[in-house]
Amino acid sequence: MVALAEEFGTPLVIYDGGLLRDTMRRYVSAFRAHDAQAEVIYASKAFWAQALLRMAHEEGLRVDVASGGELFMALHAGFPAEKIVMHGNAKDARELGEALDAMVGLVVVDGLDEIALLDRLAGERGRTQDVLVRVTPGVKPSTHQYISTGQIDSKFGFSLEGGLAAAAVAACRSAANINLVGLHCHIGSQIFEIGAYRLAAQLLAAFVKEQGGDDLTVMDMGGGLGIAYTRDDEPPSVEAFADMVMDSVSEEWDAAGLPRPRVMVEPGRSIVGRAGITVYRVTGTKDIPGVRRYAAVDGGMSDLMRPMLYGAVYEALLPERPEAEATEVLRLVGKHCESGDVLIQEADLPPIGPGDLVCLPATGAYGVAMASNYNGVTRPAVVFVDNGEATLVVRRETYAELVARDL
Ligand SMILES: *Cc1c(COP(=O)(O)O)cnc(C)c1O
Repeated sequence: MVALAEEFGTPLVIYDGGLLRDTMRRYVSAFRAHDAQAEVIYASKAFWAQALLRMAHEEGLRVDVASGGELFMALHAGFPAEKIVMHGNAKDARELGEALDAMVGLVVVDGLDEIALLDRLAGERGRTQDVLVRVTPGVKPSTHQYISTGQIDSKFGFSLEGGLAAAAVAACRSAANINLVGLHCHIGSQIFEIGAYRLAAQLLAAFVKEQGGDDLTVMDMGGGLGIAYTRDDEPPSVEAFADMVMDSVSEEWDAAGLPRPRVMVEPGRSIVGRAGITVYRVTGTKDIPGVRRYAAVDGGMSDLMRPMLYGAVYEALLPERPEAEATEVLRLVGKHCESGDVLIQEADLPPIGPGDLVCLPATGAYGVAMASNYNGVTRPAVVFVDNGEATLVVRRETYAELVARDL
């Protein structure tokens, strides 16, 4: 990390390329061990560099996109269109047209207006589009517990309660240019209590039975498996997640007397999160007597939005002195003009000063993917390291790019 920070500058996002590939392989083999037809779909919004998308394709994953831009990036990386799953709660006519023209494998519909629009656009092209209906089963998982809320107040999906999901299935079945093939649900993110997937499977199997017909042959159970952000976090393994999802669906569909569906899952965070580390350089410290000590770094909310957005907790380490004893508690802050631009509220660290490197592990998901140019900061470079070899896969943005779109 010290050598890479020297070579490529900071902030720098470093991925363990071997770990990325290994996690993709574990995912595919864990699910295929239950059913050779099971599909692992990488949720590209978590981190979408071309190098990563190409790797996901090489390893036999499909890919989820949630906008026309993500669709473009997946196609550009070489994904065949039939392996692409188009998501989004607010797809517009242009994006749906792009998905149809590319001939994506699946569109996950998320609104009655969208179903009508997709039907019309597909008809204009003389095509029939395979779709999944996104349902909201009303299971609310948090990191350490889950509950069945029947909660229907969400911008995503059609709730099972209140008949919205049934209405969406009926709308798809009666649309001439839409071919309904199954259901989708994504119950949440950073989930440790994977029993929540069993509860979701139970509710979904009952819904499939109630809907009748033989067209609901695909069950996409979404993503959401949690990862360790700090040393206290103990998330379930990929294999435990696969067992839970596959066993739950088989058992619940069997119990309902239904033919087993083809299962899909859509992990994002659990593929890329732990493989990424962000390295910053300390610009200076500030002591406020009787209050606390601050240390500021050369990045912040523009490359890592999660602490500010969700109060996400990270830990910091010193690449130059990994074994040094943590004797200080300080607030690690970014360089942006926002008081809330805090990376770690209370970081346990050895004494640090200007010029020192600080790294935050587990920043591989929803880090650079959410990066911005706030304060005219150029977005960071991304490096993949594999077998001791570093490859620059995304170069740092330039100042010239900051004005390139201005007319
Ligand atoms: C974000 C998202 C995912 C991936 O979630 P992770 O928590 O990163 O695994 C999968 N499916 C849908 C529909 C999503 O919105």
